[in-house]
Amino acid sequence: METIIKSIYNNYINYIGTGKVADYIPPLAKVSPDKYAISICTVDGEKYNIGDYKEKFSIQSISKVFTLSMLAPMMGKEIWECVGKEPSGSPFNSLVQLEYEKGIPRNPFINAGALVITDKLLERVPGFSNELLQYVRSLAGSDDIDYNKEVSDSEYVTGERNKALAHMMKSFGNFKGKVSQVFRAYCNQCSIEMSTEQLAQAFLFLANKGINPLSGEQVVSYRDSKRINALMLTCGFYDESGDFAYRVGLPGKSGVGGGIVAIIPGKLSIAVWSPELNKYGNSCRGIATLADFTTELGISIF
Ligand code: GLU
Repeated sequence: METIIKSIYNNYINYIGTGKVADYIPPLAKVSPDKYAISICTVDGEKYNIGDYKEKFSIQSISKVFTLSMLAPMMGKEIWECVGKEPSGSPFNSLVQLEYEKGIPRNPFINAGALVITDKLLERVPGFSNELLQYVRSLAGSDDIDYNKEVSDSEYVTGERNKALAHMMKSFGNFKGKVSQVFRAYCNQCSIEMSTEQLAQAFLFLANKGINPLSGEQVVSYRDSKRINALMLTCGFYDESGDFAYRVGLPGKSGVGGGIVAIIPGKLSIAVWSPELNKYGNSCRGIATLADFTTELGISIF
């Protein structure tokens, strides 16, 4: 494994200039495009890291997996009355589909779907923003994880489209809380900063039948972990989910901070960070790295 990771890393070390660092949230534009890190954690406790794996980056939409996992045990199948489980085939912040589909977002990993999940969590979890941090810290086995206030504030001020999504859902009766409050919590969750080392560890429960290998705690039931993985496979990369399944063949989730985390059920989790994004909002070098990883290792879910 170590040799394969090193050789992929070395092959792609100069692979920049193919995409663009996200700039619609202004502080994200300041991140250097040449950052590159790969981290792997296996369910047997092995770890492999290379590159900028200790450096923290904005996890952005990867946080949507944490919030869905937090809500799943509280709401069970009722979740699926307010959000769907089908790929969207549309950009992550599209308004058009939401109007046609009467305020029910296609899935929990597009922005509208994640806003609904956060709305439900705020209704159910007192002190939600603090609880979410504790939740992520316990999964990662590290207290050194926080929100980035500058990123959160900046998204809060510039995120007119996300507010429009929330207002549209409210007009259809699929949103309980105050838009400003829920959107603030959403901006906070997207601004969480983690390293690939922390992220790979934090996703390992999804490769381990829903059990956090560090604490032995059942974070979500086996059934929910199976379902969250299925959603990551079909919806984790917006309207590039089909291509990611084709090229990489693993459940995973991306964020516009350039992070991607993917899992091989029963075996391992892998996190990659490289900030340049393709037109779908997914890390160019991250996808290339993962495609080579599954091919060279000879393991994917297919
Ligand atoms: N905070 C970002 C937004 O809502 C998340 C998008 C992403 O990472 O894909 O636009």
